[in-house]
Amino acid sequence: MQTWRFPEYLLAGLVFISSLFLSLLVIHPAKGMAAELAGRWYWQSDVAAAAQGEWQLLDFPQTPPVADGVNTVWLKTSLPDMLPHDASLLIQTKDQAFEVWVDEVCVYKYGDFKPSFLSYGQRWHIVSLPQDAGGKVLRIHAYSTTAHSLGFFGKIWLDSDVDQVLRIFRQDVPYVMNIPLAGFMIIMMIIYASSPAAPRRLYKSFIVFMSVFFVWMVCATNSKQYVLDAPQFWRFLMMLSEYLLPLLANLVIFQVVDRRYKIILRYTVFIYALLLLAAVVTEVLGFNGMSRGLAVFYLLLPAMEITAFYAIIRSTWRGNLYARAVMVPLIFMAGAGTIDGMSMYRHWYIMDGYLLPYTTLSLCVFFVYIVRNQIMRERMLMRRTVGLQHEVNQAIEKATVDNLTKCYNRTKLEEVLTQEIVHHQSQEEPFSMIMLDIDFFKNVNDTYGHEVGDKVLASFAETIRQNVKRNDLFVRWGGEEFILLCRNCNGEECMQIAERLRMKVAESQPHDQLKITCSMGVASWHGAEDSAMKLLKRVDDALYMAKRTGRNRVCREPKTNMHWFKNIYSDDIGDENKE
Ligand code: GH3
Ligand code: MG
Ligand code: MG
Repeated sequence: MQTWRFPEYLLAGLVFISSLFLSLLVIHPAKGMAAELAGRWYWQSDVAAAAQGEWQLLDFPQTPPVADGVNTVWLKTSLPDMLPHDASLLIQTKDQAFEVWVDEVCVYKYGDFKPSFLSYGQRWHIVSLPQDAGGKVLRIHAYSTTAHSLGFFGKIWLDSDVDQVLRIFRQDVPYVMNIPLAGFMIIMMIIYASSPAAPRRLYKSFIVFMSVFFVWMVCATNSKQYVLDAPQFWRFLMMLSEYLLPLLANLVIFQVVDRRYKIILRYTVFIYALLLLAAVVTEVLGFNGMSRGLAVFYLLLPAMEITAFYAIIRSTWRGNLYARAVMVPLIFMAGAGTIDGMSMYRHWYIMDGYLLPYTTLSLCVFFVYIVRNQIMRERMLMRRTVGLQHEVNQAIEKATVDNLTKCYNRTKLEEVLTQEIVHHQSQEEPFSMIMLDIDFFKNVNDTYGHEVGDKVLASFAETIRQNVKRNDLFVRWGGEEFILLCRNCNGEECMQIAERLRMKVAESQPHDQLKITCSMGVASWHGAEDSAMKLLKRVDDALYMAKRTGRNRVCREPKTNMHWFKNIYSDDIGDENKE
Protein backbone atom coordinates (compact mmCIF):
# COMPACT_ATOMS: atom_id res chain seq x y z
CA MET A 1 0.00 0.00 0.00
CA GLN A 2 1.32 3.41 -0.86
CA THR A 3 1.77 5.68 2.13
CA TRP A 4 0.08 9.04 1.98
CA ARG A 5 2.50 11.98 2.08
CA PHE A 6 1.54 15.01 4.05
CA PRO A 7 1.74 18.18 1.94
CA GLU A 8 3.64 20.29 4.49
CA TYR A 9 4.63 22.85 1.88
CA LEU A 10 0.98 23.46 1.06
CA LEU A 11 0.07 24.09 4.67
CA ALA A 12 3.14 26.25 5.16
CA GLY A 13 2.11 28.28 2.13
CA LEU A 14 -1.38 28.82 3.45
CA VAL A 15 -0.07 29.86 6.84
CA PHE A 16 2.32 32.29 5.16
CA ILE A 17 -0.39 33.90 3.04
CA SER A 18 -2.75 34.30 5.95
CA SER A 19 -0.03 35.86 8.11
CA LEU A 20 0.72 38.25 5.28
CA PHE A 21 -2.87 39.42 5.25
CA LEU A 22 -2.90 39.74 8.99
CA SER A 23 0.19 41.89 8.94
CA LEU A 24 -1.44 44.18 6.38
CA LEU A 25 -4.19 44.79 8.87
CA VAL A 26 -1.78 45.51 11.70
CA ILE A 27 0.76 47.56 9.78
CA HIS A 28 -1.71 49.73 7.94
CA PRO A 29 -4.53 51.02 10.10
CA ALA A 30 -7.18 53.11 8.36
CA LYS A 31 -6.21 56.77 7.89
CA GLY A 32 -8.19 59.86 8.68
CA MET A 33 -8.93 60.70 5.07
CA ALA A 34 -10.75 57.44 4.54
CA ALA A 35 -14.44 58.10 4.30
CA GLU A 36 -17.65 56.47 3.46
CA LEU A 37 -19.41 58.31 0.70
CA ALA A 38 -22.43 59.08 2.83
CA GLY A 39 -23.84 62.38 1.70
CA ARG A 40 -27.46 62.81 0.65
CA TRP A 41 -28.46 60.38 -2.06
CA TYR A 42 -31.26 60.66 -4.58
CA TRP A 43 -32.63 58.19 -7.04
CA GLN A 44 -34.52 58.26 -10.32
CA SER A 45 -35.69 55.44 -12.53
CA ASP A 46 -35.04 56.94 -15.96
CA VAL A 47 -33.07 59.63 -17.69
CA ALA A 48 -35.98 61.66 -18.95
CA ALA A 49 -37.33 62.15 -15.47
CA ALA A 50 -33.85 63.04 -14.23
CA ALA A 51 -33.70 65.84 -16.77
CA GLN A 52 -36.91 67.24 -15.34
CA GLY A 53 -35.30 67.22 -11.93
CA GLU A 54 -37.66 64.75 -10.31
CA TRP A 55 -35.06 63.13 -8.06
CA GLN A 56 -36.35 61.40 -4.96
CA LEU A 57 -34.52 61.13 -1.69
CA LEU A 58 -32.91 57.72 -1.15
CA ASP A 59 -32.18 56.04 2.15
CA PHE A 60 -28.73 55.01 0.93
CA PRO A 61 -27.49 52.26 0.81
CA GLN A 62 -30.97 50.72 0.69
CA THR A 63 -32.15 49.84 -2.79
CA PRO A 64 -34.41 52.41 -4.43
CA PRO A 65 -38.08 51.36 -4.52
CA VAL A 66 -38.33 51.00 -8.28
CA ALA A 67 -41.50 49.67 -9.91
CA ASP A 68 -41.72 45.99 -10.92
CA GLY A 69 -40.13 45.21 -14.26
CA VAL A 70 -37.82 48.22 -14.15
CA ASN A 71 -34.21 47.23 -14.80
CA THR A 72 -32.35 50.53 -14.70
CA VAL A 73 -31.99 53.20 -12.07
CA TRP A 74 -30.03 56.38 -11.49
CA LEU A 75 -28.49 57.29 -8.14
CA LYS A 76 -27.11 60.73 -7.38
CA THR A 77 -25.04 62.42 -4.71
CA SER A 78 -22.48 65.21 -4.40
CA LEU A 79 -18.78 64.54 -3.95
CA PRO A 80 -17.12 66.38 -1.03
CA ASP A 81 -15.22 69.55 -1.92
CA MET A 82 -11.96 68.22 -0.55
CA LEU A 83 -10.86 64.97 -2.14
CA PRO A 84 -7.90 62.81 -1.08
CA HIS A 85 -4.88 62.56 -3.38
CA ASP A 86 -5.46 60.07 -6.24
CA ALA A 87 -9.07 59.90 -5.10
CA SER A 88 -11.01 56.82 -6.03
CA LEU A 89 -14.22 55.10 -5.11
CA LEU A 90 -14.37 51.53 -3.93
CA ILE A 91 -17.68 50.07 -5.04
CA GLN A 92 -18.97 46.57 -4.45
CA THR A 93 -21.57 45.21 -6.82
CA LYS A 94 -23.70 42.16 -7.13
CA ASP A 95 -25.56 41.23 -10.32
CA GLN A 96 -25.27 44.74 -11.74
CA ALA A 97 -23.90 46.50 -14.74
CA PHE A 98 -23.27 50.18 -14.04
CA GLU A 99 -21.73 53.45 -15.12
CA VAL A 100 -20.24 56.20 -12.95
CA TRP A 101 -20.70 59.77 -14.09
CA VAL A 102 -19.00 62.87 -12.71
CA ASP A 103 -21.10 65.78 -13.87
CA GLU A 104 -21.62 65.00 -17.56
CA VAL A 105 -18.62 62.71 -18.01
CA CYS A 106 -18.81 58.93 -17.76
CA VAL A 107 -15.67 57.89 -15.80
CA TYR A 108 -16.32 54.18 -15.37
CA LYS A 109 -18.38 51.49 -17.02
CA TYR A 110 -18.90 47.84 -16.11
CA GLY A 111 -20.97 45.43 -18.16
CA ASP A 112 -23.60 46.03 -20.81
CA PHE A 113 -27.10 47.15 -19.99
CA LYS A 114 -28.65 43.89 -21.05
CA PRO A 115 -29.15 40.46 -19.42
CA SER A 116 -26.04 38.37 -18.98
CA PHE A 117 -25.73 34.63 -18.43
CA LEU A 118 -25.27 34.01 -14.69
CA SER A 119 -25.87 37.73 -14.08
CA TYR A 120 -22.98 40.19 -13.65
CA GLY A 121 -21.52 38.46 -10.64
CA GLN A 122 -20.16 39.89 -7.47
CA ARG A 123 -17.22 42.17 -7.82
CA TRP A 124 -15.44 45.18 -6.44
CA HIS A 125 -14.43 48.17 -8.54
CA ILE A 126 -11.91 50.87 -7.89
CA VAL A 127 -13.19 53.88 -9.77
CA SER A 128 -10.55 56.61 -10.19
CA LEU A 129 -12.00 60.11 -10.00
CA PRO A 130 -10.78 63.02 -12.12
CA GLN A 131 -8.45 65.52 -10.38
CA ASP A 132 -11.12 68.21 -10.36
CA ALA A 133 -14.02 66.03 -9.20
CA GLY A 134 -14.26 67.76 -5.79
CA GLY A 135 -17.74 69.20 -5.18
CA LYS A 136 -19.13 67.81 -8.42
CA VAL A 137 -22.27 65.71 -8.86
CA LEU A 138 -21.73 61.97 -8.83
CA ARG A 139 -24.27 59.87 -10.65
CA ILE A 140 -24.44 56.10 -10.91
CA HIS A 141 -26.49 54.50 -13.62
CA ALA A 142 -27.22 50.87 -12.77
CA TYR A 143 -28.73 47.93 -14.55
CA SER A 144 -29.88 44.64 -13.02
CA THR A 145 -32.48 41.96 -13.66
CA THR A 146 -32.67 41.14 -9.95
CA ALA A 147 -34.88 43.58 -8.09
CA HIS A 148 -33.09 43.31 -4.76
CA SER A 149 -29.73 44.03 -6.40
CA LEU A 150 -30.76 46.95 -8.58
CA GLY A 151 -29.23 50.08 -7.18
CA PHE A 152 -27.59 48.33 -4.28
CA PHE A 153 -23.97 49.27 -3.74
CA GLY A 154 -23.53 48.75 -0.02
CA LYS A 155 -20.96 51.14 1.36
CA ILE A 156 -19.07 53.22 -1.16
CA TRP A 157 -15.64 54.25 0.05
CA LEU A 158 -13.85 57.41 -1.01
CA ASP A 159 -10.12 57.14 -0.53
CA SER A 160 -6.78 57.19 -2.29
CA ASP A 161 -6.04 54.35 -4.72
CA VAL A 162 -3.48 52.70 -2.45
CA ASP A 163 -5.74 52.76 0.57
CA GLN A 164 -8.54 51.21 -1.41
CA VAL A 165 -6.34 48.25 -2.32
CA LEU A 166 -5.38 47.83 1.33
CA ARG A 167 -9.01 48.03 2.32
CA ILE A 168 -9.75 45.17 -0.05
CA PHE A 169 -7.10 43.02 1.62
CA ARG A 170 -8.08 44.01 5.13
CA GLN A 171 -11.65 42.95 4.56
CA ASP A 172 -10.34 39.54 3.55
CA VAL A 173 -8.59 38.74 6.79
CA PRO A 174 -11.38 36.71 8.42
CA TYR A 175 -11.88 34.62 5.28
CA VAL A 176 -8.24 34.14 4.47
CA MET A 177 -7.47 33.09 8.05
CA ASN A 178 -10.02 30.34 7.73
CA ILE A 179 -8.65 28.94 4.52
CA PRO A 180 -5.63 27.19 6.10
CA LEU A 181 -7.75 26.13 9.05
CA ALA A 182 -10.32 24.50 6.78
CA GLY A 183 -7.51 23.00 4.68
CA PHE A 184 -5.89 21.66 7.81
CA MET A 185 -9.10 20.01 8.97
CA ILE A 186 -9.63 18.45 5.55
CA ILE A 187 -6.11 17.03 5.49
CA MET A 188 -6.43 15.67 9.03
CA MET A 189 -9.76 14.07 8.20
CA ILE A 190 -8.29 12.41 5.11
CA ILE A 191 -5.48 11.01 7.23
CA TYR A 192 -7.85 9.80 9.91
CA ALA A 193 -10.21 8.31 7.34
CA SER A 194 -7.51 5.82 6.35
CA SER A 195 -7.62 4.23 9.80
CA PRO A 196 -9.46 0.93 10.05
CA ALA A 197 -11.23 2.34 13.12
CA ALA A 198 -12.66 5.31 11.20
CA PRO A 199 -16.40 5.79 10.69
CA ARG A 200 -15.76 6.35 6.97
CA ARG A 201 -19.13 7.72 5.93
CA LEU A 202 -19.10 10.37 8.62
CA TYR A 203 -15.56 11.41 7.70
CA LYS A 204 -16.33 11.47 4.00
CA SER A 205 -19.35 13.70 4.45
CA PHE A 206 -17.38 15.94 6.80
CA ILE A 207 -14.55 16.20 4.26
CA VAL A 208 -16.99 17.13 1.50
CA PHE A 209 -18.66 19.70 3.74
CA MET A 210 -15.32 21.23 4.71
CA SER A 211 -14.22 21.32 1.07
CA VAL A 212 -17.31 23.29 0.10
CA PHE A 213 -16.78 25.53 3.10
CA PHE A 214 -13.25 26.05 1.85
CA VAL A 215 -14.54 27.02 -1.60
CA TRP A 216 -17.10 29.35 -0.07
CA MET A 217 -14.38 31.04 1.95
CA VAL A 218 -12.30 31.61 -1.16
CA CYS A 219 -15.35 33.04 -2.92
CA ALA A 220 -16.03 35.38 -0.01
CA THR A 221 -12.62 37.06 -0.32
CA ASN A 222 -12.12 40.18 -2.37
CA SER A 223 -8.61 39.15 -3.32
CA LYS A 224 -9.79 36.24 -5.49
CA GLN A 225 -10.49 38.87 -8.14
CA TYR A 226 -6.74 39.42 -8.48
CA VAL A 227 -6.22 35.74 -9.14
CA LEU A 228 -9.10 35.30 -11.54
CA ASP A 229 -11.24 38.24 -12.57
CA ALA A 230 -14.31 36.25 -13.50
CA PRO A 231 -17.16 37.66 -11.42
CA GLN A 232 -19.82 35.46 -12.98
CA PHE A 233 -17.82 32.39 -12.24
CA TRP A 234 -17.14 33.41 -8.63
CA ARG A 235 -20.72 34.49 -8.09
CA PHE A 236 -21.97 31.19 -9.42
CA LEU A 237 -19.48 29.23 -7.31
CA MET A 238 -20.38 31.21 -4.22
CA MET A 239 -24.09 30.74 -4.66
CA LEU A 240 -23.59 27.08 -5.43
CA SER A 241 -21.62 26.61 -2.22
CA GLU A 242 -24.22 28.62 -0.30
CA TYR A 243 -26.89 26.21 -1.50
CA LEU A 244 -24.65 23.23 -0.82
CA LEU A 245 -23.37 24.10 2.65
CA PRO A 246 -26.55 23.39 4.67
CA LEU A 247 -27.30 20.40 2.46
CA LEU A 248 -23.90 18.89 3.25
CA ALA A 249 -24.09 19.94 6.90
CA ASN A 250 -27.32 17.99 7.19
CA LEU A 251 -25.64 15.01 5.52
CA VAL A 252 -23.03 15.10 8.28
CA ILE A 253 -25.79 15.35 10.87
CA PHE A 254 -27.54 12.47 9.11
CA GLN A 255 -24.50 10.31 9.84
CA VAL A 256 -24.49 11.09 13.55
CA VAL A 257 -28.13 11.16 14.67
CA ASP A 258 -29.95 8.08 15.93
CA ARG A 259 -31.46 5.82 13.32
CA ARG A 260 -35.04 6.84 14.03
CA TYR A 261 -34.29 10.53 13.32
CA LYS A 262 -32.41 9.94 10.11
CA ILE A 263 -35.62 10.20 8.11
CA ILE A 264 -36.01 13.84 9.20
CA LEU A 265 -32.54 14.69 7.96
CA ARG A 266 -33.19 12.83 4.75
CA TYR A 267 -36.19 15.10 4.11
CA THR A 268 -34.25 18.28 4.75
CA VAL A 269 -31.44 17.14 2.44
CA PHE A 270 -34.02 16.27 -0.17
CA ILE A 271 -35.66 19.69 0.06
CA TYR A 272 -32.31 21.50 -0.21
CA ALA A 273 -31.40 19.34 -3.18
CA LEU A 274 -34.71 20.09 -4.84
CA LEU A 275 -34.25 23.80 -4.34
CA LEU A 276 -30.72 23.67 -5.72
CA LEU A 277 -31.89 21.75 -8.75
CA ALA A 278 -34.69 24.24 -9.39
CA ALA A 279 -32.25 27.16 -8.99
CA VAL A 280 -29.70 25.70 -11.40
CA VAL A 281 -32.30 24.74 -14.00
CA THR A 282 -34.00 28.14 -13.94
CA GLU A 283 -30.59 29.80 -14.05
CA VAL A 284 -29.63 27.84 -17.14
CA LEU A 285 -33.01 28.69 -18.69
CA GLY A 286 -32.16 32.34 -18.20
CA PHE A 287 -34.51 33.17 -15.33
CA ASN A 288 -31.78 34.17 -12.92
CA GLY A 289 -32.82 31.24 -10.73
CA MET A 290 -29.67 30.97 -8.61
CA SER A 291 -30.10 34.50 -7.35
CA ARG A 292 -33.90 34.46 -7.07
CA GLY A 293 -33.87 31.07 -5.32
CA LEU A 294 -31.90 32.62 -2.47
CA ALA A 295 -35.08 34.30 -1.28
CA VAL A 296 -36.66 30.90 -0.71
CA PHE A 297 -33.38 29.50 0.48
CA TYR A 298 -32.91 31.98 3.31
CA LEU A 299 -36.46 31.39 4.46
CA LEU A 300 -35.99 27.63 4.38
CA LEU A 301 -32.63 27.66 6.13
CA PRO A 302 -33.82 28.43 9.69
CA ALA A 303 -36.80 26.10 9.32
CA MET A 304 -34.70 23.19 8.07
CA GLU A 305 -31.96 23.69 10.62
CA ILE A 306 -34.41 23.91 13.49
CA THR A 307 -35.75 20.56 12.30
CA ALA A 308 -32.21 19.16 12.19
CA PHE A 309 -31.63 20.63 15.62
CA TYR A 310 -34.65 18.73 16.91
CA ALA A 311 -33.17 15.45 15.64
CA ILE A 312 -29.88 16.31 17.31
CA ILE A 313 -31.47 17.22 20.63
CA ARG A 314 -33.47 13.98 20.68
CA SER A 315 -30.40 11.92 19.82
CA THR A 316 -28.34 13.70 22.46
CA TRP A 317 -31.08 13.04 24.96
CA ARG A 318 -30.78 9.36 24.19
CA GLY A 319 -27.04 9.46 24.93
CA ASN A 320 -25.64 10.01 21.44
CA LEU A 321 -22.38 11.86 22.05
CA TYR A 322 -21.65 12.57 18.39
CA ALA A 323 -24.97 14.37 18.21
CA ARG A 324 -24.03 16.45 21.21
CA ALA A 325 -20.73 17.42 19.58
CA VAL A 326 -22.40 18.42 16.32
CA MET A 327 -24.86 20.67 18.14
CA VAL A 328 -22.28 23.41 18.71
CA PRO A 329 -21.30 24.00 15.08
CA LEU A 330 -24.90 23.63 13.96
CA ILE A 331 -26.14 26.41 16.21
CA PHE A 332 -23.26 28.69 15.29
CA MET A 333 -23.15 28.00 11.58
CA ALA A 334 -26.86 27.84 10.85
CA GLY A 335 -27.33 30.97 12.95
CA ALA A 336 -24.54 32.84 11.21
CA GLY A 337 -25.73 31.59 7.82
CA THR A 338 -29.22 32.89 8.44
CA ILE A 339 -27.98 36.27 9.63
CA ASP A 340 -25.59 36.50 6.66
CA GLY A 341 -28.41 35.63 4.34
CA MET A 342 -30.64 38.33 5.76
CA SER A 343 -27.96 40.98 5.78
CA MET A 344 -26.75 40.18 2.27
CA TYR A 345 -30.04 39.46 0.64
CA ARG A 346 -32.34 41.74 2.58
CA HIS A 347 -29.65 44.34 3.26
CA TRP A 348 -30.11 44.26 7.00
CA TYR A 349 -26.60 45.55 7.68
CA ILE A 350 -25.73 43.56 10.70
CA MET A 351 -22.16 43.83 9.62
CA ASP A 352 -19.98 44.59 6.63
CA GLY A 353 -18.87 41.10 5.75
CA TYR A 354 -20.08 37.64 6.56
CA LEU A 355 -20.48 36.16 10.01
CA LEU A 356 -20.01 32.60 8.84
CA PRO A 357 -16.19 32.62 8.78
CA TYR A 358 -16.15 33.38 12.48
CA THR A 359 -17.90 30.12 13.22
CA THR A 360 -15.06 27.87 12.07
CA LEU A 361 -13.90 27.55 15.64
CA SER A 362 -17.21 25.92 16.50
CA LEU A 363 -16.37 23.30 13.86
CA CYS A 364 -13.19 22.57 15.78
CA VAL A 365 -15.33 21.34 18.67
CA PHE A 366 -16.85 18.68 16.47
CA PHE A 367 -13.49 17.95 14.87
CA VAL A 368 -11.76 17.46 18.21
CA TYR A 369 -14.57 15.22 19.35
CA ILE A 370 -14.42 12.89 16.37
CA VAL A 371 -10.63 12.69 16.58
CA ARG A 372 -10.86 11.87 20.28
CA ASN A 373 -13.45 9.20 19.57
CA GLN A 374 -11.31 7.65 16.92
CA ILE A 375 -8.31 7.47 19.21
CA MET A 376 -10.48 5.79 21.83
CA ARG A 377 -11.77 3.32 19.26
CA GLU A 378 -8.23 2.58 18.08
CA ARG A 379 -7.14 1.99 21.65
CA MET A 380 -10.01 -0.42 22.14
CA LEU A 381 -9.11 -2.24 18.93
CA MET A 382 -5.50 -2.45 20.06
CA ARG A 383 -6.55 -3.92 23.38
CA ARG A 384 -8.70 -6.41 21.54
CA THR A 385 -5.81 -7.30 19.22
CA VAL A 386 -3.50 -7.89 22.18
CA GLY A 387 -6.18 -10.10 23.74
CA LEU A 388 -6.61 -12.02 20.50
CA GLN A 389 -2.86 -12.45 20.13
CA HIS A 390 -2.76 -13.86 23.64
CA GLU A 391 -5.55 -16.29 22.80
CA VAL A 392 -3.80 -17.32 19.60
CA ASN A 393 -0.59 -17.94 21.54
CA GLN A 394 -2.51 -20.01 24.04
CA ALA A 395 -4.17 -22.00 21.28
CA ILE A 396 -0.81 -22.65 19.63
CA GLU A 397 0.62 -23.69 22.99
CA LYS A 398 -2.32 -26.01 23.55
CA ALA A 399 -1.95 -27.55 20.13
CA THR A 400 1.71 -28.35 20.67
CA VAL A 401 1.77 -29.37 24.33
CA ASP A 402 0.76 -32.70 25.81
CA ASN A 403 -1.75 -32.34 28.59
CA LEU A 404 -0.61 -35.08 30.92
CA THR A 405 3.16 -34.58 30.90
CA LYS A 406 3.28 -30.89 29.81
CA CYS A 407 5.86 -31.98 27.24
CA TYR A 408 5.69 -30.82 23.65
CA ASN A 409 4.07 -33.19 21.19
CA ARG A 410 5.20 -34.60 17.85
CA THR A 411 3.93 -31.56 15.93
CA LYS A 412 6.30 -29.32 17.81
CA LEU A 413 9.20 -31.72 17.35
CA GLU A 414 8.66 -31.85 13.62
CA GLU A 415 8.60 -28.08 13.46
CA VAL A 416 11.75 -27.58 15.55
CA LEU A 417 13.59 -30.43 13.88
CA THR A 418 12.95 -28.91 10.47
CA GLN A 419 14.26 -25.56 11.69
CA GLU A 420 17.37 -27.12 13.20
CA ILE A 421 18.07 -29.01 10.01
CA VAL A 422 17.65 -25.91 7.86
CA HIS A 423 20.02 -23.93 10.08
CA HIS A 424 22.66 -26.65 10.36
CA GLN A 425 22.10 -28.44 7.07
CA SER A 426 25.74 -29.16 6.25
CA GLN A 427 27.25 -29.25 9.75
CA GLU A 428 28.08 -32.56 11.39
CA GLU A 429 26.69 -33.16 14.85
CA PRO A 430 25.31 -29.66 15.47
CA PHE A 431 22.64 -31.31 17.61
CA SER A 432 21.80 -34.71 19.07
CA MET A 433 18.75 -36.56 20.21
CA ILE A 434 17.87 -38.87 23.09
CA MET A 435 14.94 -41.24 22.90
CA LEU A 436 13.71 -42.39 26.32
CA ASP A 437 11.41 -45.26 27.18
CA ILE A 438 10.33 -46.30 30.68
CA ASP A 439 11.22 -49.90 31.45
CA PHE A 440 8.40 -52.33 32.07
CA PHE A 441 5.87 -49.62 32.27
CA LYS A 442 3.10 -52.02 31.45
CA ASN A 443 3.74 -53.61 34.83
CA VAL A 444 3.13 -50.29 36.59
CA ASN A 445 -0.23 -50.02 34.93
CA ASP A 446 -1.08 -53.61 35.63
CA THR A 447 -0.03 -53.45 39.30
CA TYR A 448 -1.15 -50.02 40.38
CA GLY A 449 -3.75 -49.11 37.81
CA HIS A 450 -3.87 -46.66 34.95
CA GLU A 451 -4.24 -43.61 37.15
CA VAL A 452 -1.03 -44.27 39.01
CA GLY A 453 0.53 -45.03 35.65
CA ASP A 454 -0.43 -41.53 34.55
CA LYS A 455 1.06 -40.00 37.69
CA VAL A 456 4.27 -41.89 37.13
CA LEU A 457 4.41 -40.65 33.56
CA ALA A 458 3.94 -37.05 34.66
CA SER A 459 6.50 -37.39 37.42
CA PHE A 460 9.00 -38.99 35.03
CA ALA A 461 8.57 -36.07 32.62
CA GLU A 462 9.04 -33.61 35.47
CA THR A 463 12.27 -35.32 36.58
CA ILE A 464 13.69 -35.05 33.07
CA ARG A 465 12.55 -31.48 32.65
CA GLN A 466 14.24 -30.40 35.86
CA ASN A 467 17.53 -31.84 34.75
CA VAL A 468 17.87 -30.44 31.25
CA LYS A 469 18.53 -27.01 29.83
CA ARG A 470 15.57 -24.79 28.95
CA ASN A 471 16.82 -24.66 25.43
CA ASP A 472 16.48 -28.43 24.95
CA LEU A 473 13.21 -29.55 23.46
CA PHE A 474 11.48 -32.24 25.50
CA VAL A 475 8.80 -34.11 23.57
CA ARG A 476 6.37 -36.90 24.36
CA TRP A 477 6.84 -39.10 21.35
CA GLY A 478 3.96 -41.39 22.26
CA GLY A 479 2.81 -43.61 25.17
CA GLU A 480 5.76 -43.74 27.59
CA GLU A 481 8.33 -42.84 24.95
CA PHE A 482 9.97 -39.41 24.96
CA ILE A 483 12.50 -37.55 22.86
CA LEU A 484 14.92 -34.92 24.06
CA LEU A 485 16.41 -32.72 21.38
CA CYS A 486 19.72 -31.36 22.68
CA ARG A 487 20.69 -28.31 20.67
CA ASN A 488 24.38 -27.56 20.19
CA CYS A 489 25.35 -31.00 21.55
CA ASN A 490 27.50 -33.60 19.85
CA GLY A 491 26.98 -37.31 20.47
CA GLU A 492 29.59 -37.45 23.21
CA GLU A 493 28.07 -34.62 25.25
CA CYS A 494 24.61 -36.02 24.69
CA MET A 495 25.73 -39.41 26.06
CA GLN A 496 26.80 -37.69 29.27
CA ILE A 497 23.49 -35.91 29.56
CA ALA A 498 21.60 -39.15 28.96
CA GLU A 499 23.63 -41.00 31.54
CA ARG A 500 22.97 -38.29 34.11
CA LEU A 501 19.24 -38.39 33.33
CA ARG A 502 19.19 -42.19 33.61
CA MET A 503 20.61 -41.91 37.13
CA LYS A 504 18.19 -39.16 38.12
CA VAL A 505 15.22 -41.27 36.99
CA ALA A 506 16.54 -44.29 38.86
CA GLU A 507 16.90 -42.16 42.02
CA SER A 508 13.47 -40.61 41.70
CA GLN A 509 10.37 -41.93 43.44
CA PRO A 510 7.38 -41.20 41.24
CA HIS A 511 4.84 -42.94 43.50
CA ASP A 512 4.95 -44.23 47.09
CA GLN A 513 7.63 -46.93 47.24
CA LEU A 514 7.58 -47.28 43.47
CA LYS A 515 10.83 -47.02 41.59
CA ILE A 516 11.28 -46.89 37.84
CA THR A 517 14.14 -47.03 35.38
CA CYS A 518 14.37 -46.07 31.77
CA SER A 519 16.37 -46.95 28.71
CA MET A 520 17.73 -44.41 26.24
CA GLY A 521 19.11 -44.26 22.76
CA VAL A 522 21.33 -41.46 21.51
CA ALA A 523 21.96 -40.33 17.94
CA SER A 524 23.32 -37.18 16.29
CA TRP A 525 22.75 -35.22 13.11
CA HIS A 526 25.31 -36.11 10.49
CA GLY A 527 25.15 -33.30 8.00
CA ALA A 528 23.99 -32.65 4.47
CA GLU A 529 23.10 -36.20 3.53
CA ASP A 530 21.23 -36.96 6.74
CA SER A 531 17.48 -36.55 7.14
CA ALA A 532 14.98 -36.25 9.96
CA MET A 533 13.58 -39.66 9.16
CA LYS A 534 17.00 -41.30 9.17
CA LEU A 535 17.90 -39.61 12.44
CA LEU A 536 14.71 -40.80 14.12
CA LYS A 537 15.27 -44.29 12.85
CA ARG A 538 18.83 -44.32 14.25
CA VAL A 539 17.81 -43.04 17.66
CA ASP A 540 15.00 -45.59 17.79
CA ASP A 541 17.46 -48.33 16.91
CA ALA A 542 19.80 -47.16 19.63
CA LEU A 543 16.94 -47.32 22.14
CA TYR A 544 16.05 -50.78 20.94
CA MET A 545 19.66 -51.72 21.50
CA ALA A 546 19.45 -50.45 25.09
CA LYS A 547 16.33 -52.52 25.71
CA ARG A 548 17.83 -55.60 24.11
CA THR A 549 21.00 -55.39 26.13
CA GLY A 550 19.29 -55.28 29.53
CA ARG A 551 17.38 -51.98 29.98
CA ASN A 552 18.21 -49.15 32.43
CA ARG A 553 21.04 -48.06 30.17
CA VAL A 554 22.06 -45.66 27.44
CA CYS A 555 23.09 -46.78 23.99
CA ARG A 556 24.57 -44.63 21.30
CA GLU A 557 24.22 -45.21 17.61
CA PRO A 558 27.25 -47.19 16.44
CA LYS A 559 30.38 -45.15 15.65
CA THR A 560 30.34 -46.47 12.11
CA ASN A 561 27.03 -44.68 11.95
CA MET A 562 28.94 -41.46 11.48
CA HIS A 563 28.47 -42.30 7.86
CA TRP A 564 25.84 -44.86 8.38
CA PHE A 565 23.36 -43.41 6.03
CA LYS A 566 25.76 -44.08 3.18
CA ASN A 567 25.89 -47.78 3.93
CA ILE A 568 23.43 -50.55 4.26
CA TYR A 569 22.59 -51.06 7.90
CA SER A 570 24.83 -53.85 9.22
CA ASP A 571 23.96 -56.30 11.91
CA ASP A 572 27.19 -55.95 13.86
CA ILE A 573 26.09 -52.63 15.38
CA GLY A 574 25.05 -54.48 18.49
CA ASP A 575 28.68 -55.28 19.26
CA GLU A 576 29.70 -51.67 18.89
CA ASN A 577 27.19 -50.66 21.51
CA LYS A 578 28.23 -53.14 24.14
CA GLU A 579 30.55 -50.67 25.76
P1 GH3 B 1 9.59 -52.01 27.96
O1 GH3 B 1 9.40 -50.67 27.42
O2 GH3 B 1 10.60 -52.05 29.04
O3 GH3 B 1 9.90 -53.00 26.90
O4 GH3 B 1 8.30 -52.49 28.62
P2 GH3 B 1 6.94 -51.72 28.63
O5 GH3 B 1 5.98 -52.42 29.48
O6 GH3 B 1 7.20 -50.31 29.03
O7 GH3 B 1 6.57 -51.86 27.15
P3 GH3 B 1 5.37 -51.32 26.24
O8 GH3 B 1 5.90 -50.24 25.39
O9 GH3 B 1 4.86 -52.54 25.57
O10 GH3 B 1 4.31 -50.79 27.18
C1 GH3 B 1 3.97 -49.44 27.21
C2 GH3 B 1 2.74 -49.31 28.04
O11 GH3 B 1 2.52 -47.97 28.40
C3 GH3 B 1 1.50 -49.75 27.32
C4 GH3 B 1 0.43 -48.75 27.72
O12 GH3 B 1 -0.58 -49.36 28.44
C5 GH3 B 1 1.15 -47.83 28.62
N1 GH3 B 1 0.77 -46.49 28.33
C6 GH3 B 1 0.93 -45.83 27.17
N2 GH3 B 1 0.44 -44.57 27.30
C7 GH3 B 1 -0.03 -44.46 28.56
C8 GH3 B 1 -0.65 -43.42 29.28
O13 GH3 B 1 -0.88 -42.32 28.79
N3 GH3 B 1 -1.01 -43.65 30.55
C9 GH3 B 1 -0.77 -44.82 31.14
N4 GH3 B 1 -1.14 -45.00 32.43
N5 GH3 B 1 -0.21 -45.82 30.49
C10 GH3 B 1 0.17 -45.68 29.22
MG1 MG C 1 8.46 -49.12 28.03
MG1 MG D 1 7.27 -48.26 24.89
